[in-house]
Amino acid sequence: MLRSNRILHEGVIGIDIDNVLSDSDSEIRKIIDEEYGIKSTKQQITHWNYSESLPITIAQERKVLHLFHTKYCIFAPPIPFATEALIKLSNSYSIWLITCRPIQANSLTKQWLEKHNIIYDHLLYNCNKSEYKEILDFLIEDNGETAIDFAVKGTPVILFDQPWNTAYFHNNIFRVNSWRQALQIIETTESKDALQCQLSGGGSF
Ligand SMILES: [Mg+2]
Repeated sequence: MLRSNRILHEGVIGIDIDNVLSDSDSEIRKIIDEEYGIKSTKQQITHWNYSESLPITIAQERKVLHLFHTKYCIFAPPIPFATEALIKLSNSYSIWLITCRPIQANSLTKQWLEKHNIIYDHLLYNCNKSEYKEILDFLIEDNGETAIDFAVKGTPVILFDQPWNTAYFHNNIFRVNSWRQALQIIETTESKDALQCQLSGGGSF
């Protein structure tokens, strides 16, 4: 749900939607099966594009994604514990959902967020996420390229481990398999920062 009462937050956290909040991959592969009779498992999706991982053309992939964005994304199940994690994070952070979905997906995306009680402050449709590099304290993603882009500039990235992002590593990239792990990483990083701040005399003590 869109949060209306603005409070002063400690920081800003950027969160991707597909395969971070929503298990979009399972729904997209279901569409590929229904449209083209190709059954697949998530382990087969070792590239960012489905047309590189499965025997479908770029045009067929485009059609599948169009169907997903305009019809089926509402049916994707949420990633376990995502709703609860965002409620917890929203106490300390402004939540910016940043997605590469096309704007045509806006209505269904908002309905899906409402349906699963996902709390957020902003919903942004922008594939060029690096525009928010200066603003975000953390980014939570599954896209390896985007993760590297933020990590090299010093922004910590929590990367949901997926078969399509196994090749991306950096000291500022923290791989997780669940939202519980993601929260742990954020808490650890926060306490490390607080300690550093105290040691350098920058604390309020
Ligand atoms: Mg994603």
